[in-house]
Amino acid sequence: MEDKRSFIEKTAESLGLIKKLDRFKGESLSDFTDGIPRLTEPGDLANFPPPEKWDNWVEYDSAELPNKIKKTYSIIPTTCFNCEAACGLLAYVDKEKQSIRKFEGNPFHPASRGKTCAKGPATINQINDTDRILYPMKQTGKRGEGKWERVSWDEALEDIGSRIGRAIKEKRHNEIVYHVGRPGHEGYMYRVLNGWGIDGHNSHTNICSSGARFGYNIWQGSDRPSPDYANAKFILLMSAHLESGHYFNPHSQRIIEAKLKGAKLCVIDPRLSNTAARADYWLPTFPGTEAALFLSLAKIIIDENLYNREFIENWVNWQDYLKYKDPHTDPEFSDFIAALKDEYKSYTPEFAAAECGIDAAVIPVIAREIGKAGTQFACHGWRSAATGNLGGWQTTRCLHFLSVLVGAVGTEGGTLPNDWNKFKPVFHDTPPPHKHWNELHYPDEYPLSHYEMSNILPYMLKEGRGKLDVYFTRVFNPVWTYPDGFSWMEMLQDRDKVGLHVALTPTWSETAFLADYVLPMGHASERHDLNSYETHQAMWIAFRQPVMREYLRRQGKEVKLTYESNIGEVWEDDEFFIELSWRIDPDGSLGIRKHFESPDKPGEKLTVDEYYTHIFNNVPGLPEKAELENLSALDYMKKYGAFEVKQTVINQHMTEVPADKGIEVQGKYRQGFSTPSRKQEFFSQTMLDWKWGEYTIPGYIKSHVYWRSMDNAKGEFILVPTFRLPTMIHSRSGNAKWLVEISNRNPVWINTIDADRLGIQTNDLVKINTDIGYFVDKVWVTESIRPGVIACSHHLGRWRREQDPPANRWVMNTINIQEKEPGKYTVNTSKQIERYKSPDRDSELIFWKEGGVHQNITFPPHPDPISGMHCWHQKVKIEKSGIDDSYGDIFVDTNKSFKIYKEWLAMTRPAPGPGNLRRPLWLNRPLKPAAEAFLHKH
Ligand code: SF4
Repeated sequence: MEDKRSFIEKTAESLGLIKKLDRFKGESLSDFTDGIPRLTEPGDLANFPPPEKWDNWVEYDSAELPNKIKKTYSIIPTTCFNCEAACGLLAYVDKEKQSIRKFEGNPFHPASRGKTCAKGPATINQINDTDRILYPMKQTGKRGEGKWERVSWDEALEDIGSRIGRAIKEKRHNEIVYHVGRPGHEGYMYRVLNGWGIDGHNSHTNICSSGARFGYNIWQGSDRPSPDYANAKFILLMSAHLESGHYFNPHSQRIIEAKLKGAKLCVIDPRLSNTAARADYWLPTFPGTEAALFLSLAKIIIDENLYNREFIENWVNWQDYLKYKDPHTDPEFSDFIAALKDEYKSYTPEFAAAECGIDAAVIPVIAREIGKAGTQFACHGWRSAATGNLGGWQTTRCLHFLSVLVGAVGTEGGTLPNDWNKFKPVFHDTPPPHKHWNELHYPDEYPLSHYEMSNILPYMLKEGRGKLDVYFTRVFNPVWTYPDGFSWMEMLQDRDKVGLHVALTPTWSETAFLADYVLPMGHASERHDLNSYETHQAMWIAFRQPVMREYLRRQGKEVKLTYESNIGEVWEDDEFFIELSWRIDPDGSLGIRKHFESPDKPGEKLTVDEYYTHIFNNVPGLPEKAELENLSALDYMKKYGAFEVKQTVINQHMTEVPADKGIEVQGKYRQGFSTPSRKQEFFSQTMLDWKWGEYTIPGYIKSHVYWRSMDNAKGEFILVPTFRLPTMIHSRSGNAKWLVEISNRNPVWINTIDADRLGIQTNDLVKINTDIGYFVDKVWVTESIRPGVIACSHHLGRWRREQDPPANRWVMNTINIQEKEPGKYTVNTSKQIERYKSPDRDSELIFWKEGGVHQNITFPPHPDPISGMHCWHQKVKIEKSGIDDSYGDIFVDTNKSFKIYKEWLAMTRPAPGPGNLRRPLWLNRPLKPAAEAFLHKH
């Protein structure tokens, strides 16, 4: 057979630079594979091992090819933890080595259907990370000094538990805070915190999605959209961020499915993202102008009678709006349409095109596509505009307006309220709602904020508004992910503000370096969680289970606690919080312990099997399905990892209910939506009541980074920092070597026209000046971003200091931080990424050096005065770097960021509102307290 290797390949082989291409000895691979017998029968699951063989699955070892070496695996389902979607994974446990060899997709998972994105299989990198934390560690010096010693779990639990118990006894409930980055479970921590009786939940949501959520919530009382892409005829996405980072795999599968059936896709994004590149229409609007475009689309839909009269007449609170405008009117539907025409008359295509920087001719085309799709129009807006701009919440409100106009709410092929998809678990014990109000989470200034005001926590503590006695950060890295990380460092290093910082994390991070305790928690296949998300038009649950624990069970070995089957002493959150609750209340006198006792064995600790048994026994249809295989509901979930609760979830607003629980529509009492009117609220009485009368209806708010106020010739630009490369996992890609190999730098994207004007070329070093400092990065000159806007991915630029433990060395630079004057910090890189020796020999093959630049730390706080969302986009000034500037250099002045916090705070309109309330009772909030806690006390 002809040797097809080129001269270069032969030379590279002989120098050992590449693997031997001749390992098949001149023969083609198919000469071998053709002889391999099929291990599965053709049929539904032909691409996957059939479940009856999962306990003893045999396949040839890919690393040994062409030799046919058989490997025997036990295949165990679990779910991915590398974004919220919780796709199904199958872990292949090598029976000989008694360890996980690889992860593939689980064909029984209704959302992911056997597929994963690149991040799912990379779970194996995280498990095998040689830098991971294996034992509880305690900081012995000053916080951040980098002096760590190993401690026992018992010591850590006792110390933390007794401290929390003391705070509760002394009525310092609001000093205990659990602050979560990646949650990944359904209701578990709400149960725990209600069990402790504290308002102790804080989240990352207002640097993530609270702006988008507020826009949806004010319409329909559900804060996330759930598009039925698969059945849509026209799909509109505000940004590609969703498809390249959030629910990426389940959503993109269904978008492609729809496209194959003839659906069209429109993407609105200043970047030509991977998704935009596949779209039929790409509209690169100026950041912050999106609402103007949506209102222009709405105007055309109304003017050209493309709206769905039946839906609007029955399900929109148009009468409230007309009554508000004229209390003496007897509202007629035609008056409403006339009023809409009048409200939005200025949003002509010409106006919107000029405002957004796009072609006016395309706007009627898109509007007519939406009108034609009708109830099969699906759309989504998540981070991007809603996250980037002052008033960004109006962008999702205006986007949803389009769905309402064409009646595509809750329909097949339309967009559903997310809680129609979400399974709500029934617990064996549900503690009553707590009765506290933590003003560090919901300060007076933000009565409508959607989720906790975590983005201003350091400034509130600096102002003396309170302190934290025990502060948990759980898979949460604010020093690195939040704006102005130096203010977080100042907060965490001050023991008067944070008494004890406990980091619950599977891996070291910039925030864990500043903890008192670092407690290792499991990755995806090392923990229990219940998952249920709005990935498509159905309701499902999935079971994230610790793989080695289940493997040992299958071998007949009893494991009492998950850490016994995990590597080192890695725990899981479920069991940690049960154990900690017992340490908080050892004799039960605080009334806490009883919520964490076995339902069947009084006086004994609750086990995870007991906890999940009760939940699964109460999933409609699951016990019956399990029974068919002679399994308990729990064992069914251990075997298959997922269950489809409902195949379809559309039109729930039409469900007939008793008169006192619904609204009369078309002669029957129906469930409606979760708003005070039970209708879609075009007009919001809530906005009026809470002092924002100018925003009672969908509208356009000019951003804090309005493009007309930028002088591009002087280097002024809008910086879009809100996208991420599709292979990145917030701050947890650093230990996934395959992902870092694909993406390991985050240059600043700049359009060719702007680069030419400024005399900048690809790879030039530039200084990006923000309102509180600057960062130095390289540039990428590209046509993939619109002129006038620059962008930088936010998932790279990780760091450690010399004193910190080695961690995430695939991607972390070693940096030197100096405080030149109080609050004025400089950062420079003392060591770039380099090869190192470790038990993983790939660490000696690293070919990249830069690792990216930490841009977020140079951003000031921008809390939206209504939604509370941090408005990420920045007005920056770009300049060529000076002779003293190096890649990765950073300067930040936290005095300036505090001043900017105060300026944004001054834009708010504080509580109390009607009835002396802190917040409208109907609006949801995490860990919702009893109604009495809503009463304003001052
Ligand atoms: S889409 Fe999310 S959950 Fe699914 S495989 Fe990728 S990272 Fe994992």
